[in-house]
Amino acid sequence: RAKNEGRDRFAVFDEAMREQAVRSLDLEADLRRAIQRREFIPYYQPIVRLEDGVVAGHEALLRWRHEKRGLLSPAAFIALGEESGLIEQVDWLLYEQVIEELARGGSDYISVNVSPRHFRSPDFARRLLGLLDDAGADPARLRLEITEVALMDDAPRTRRMLDRLRDRGVRAVLDDFGTGFSALSYLHRFPILGLKIDRSFVAGLDAEGGREESLALVRAILALSRSLGMDTVGEGIETEAQRDTLLQLGCSAGQGYLLGRPASCRRR
Ligand code: C2E
Ligand code: MG
Ligand code: MG
Ligand code: MG
Repeated sequence: RAKNEGRDRFAVFDEAMREQAVRSLDLEADLRRAIQRREFIPYYQPIVRLEDGVVAGHEALLRWRHEKRGLLSPAAFIALGEESGLIEQVDWLLYEQVIEELARGGSDYISVNVSPRHFRSPDFARRLLGLLDDAGADPARLRLEITEVALMDDAPRTRRMLDRLRDRGVRAVLDDFGTGFSALSYLHRFPILGLKIDRSFVAGLDAEGGREESLALVRAILALSRSLGMDTVGEGIETEAQRDTLLQLGCSAGQGYLLGRPASCRRR
């Protein structure tokens, strides 16, 4: 009897795995088709100066305009994109559009998210600078959001790449700061303009329990950032209390639904 149960359980497990595999194959084929058809667009979310609400820049956020499933957020496909490597092609489709948008004018910056995979490609900096040159866009208005993982992956190579981009004016910031495992002693060796405080810490700023802990963490990040001469952006600001606390603690800029949702065009 026990034997039978075991076999049934195994059969169920097997079937679930098969379905999972088929689903992700479908999605991968879908993603390849979407790349051919260029179904990706940027949404722009304002990044504002907390002091007075002036828009300093925007973050370009990837959206997939899926013919059947509507507008998809990265959560629905980014893991597969990373695993399969397709995210690199998707990112390039997005960067082209963002750089065209920069070339249309304005003085604010636009930041784009950079998959860690790009830092393993020797061609990344050259190709990005080529796009900027071809469009006649000012490299100083493009910002790269990179993660701590990307920095640590192959530190010397990443540093050379970031130095080369910085020499032409393209600056980089560290995204979701505090969630990775940065070797803090490394940070100052990279040409990093600023840190984005992960929204999990910002969310804790007006939570009932655990507020003290979030306050301590945010204070520590701001102190670190200041001592390295970096800027800070607070992510995921949803309440006035969160914004006011960040401002009080000396955080100069913020991003979040309270300040502006991602939208199909930039706010002027
Ligand atoms: P991220 O770079 O940390 O982007 C911020 C995410 O937080 C965005 O989600 C944004 O819509 C969301 N957000 C902004 N304000 C708030 C808020 O007040 N509350 C809450 N709960 N969320 C807020 P989104 O657009 O779904 O992007 C998720 C992640 O996908 C991004 O996190 C980034 O890691 C990745 N991603 C986005 N665009 C690209 C891209 O073009 N290329 C690559 N490789 N990754 C991207
Ligand atoms: Mg980002
Ligand atoms: Mg972020
Ligand atoms: Mg985040």
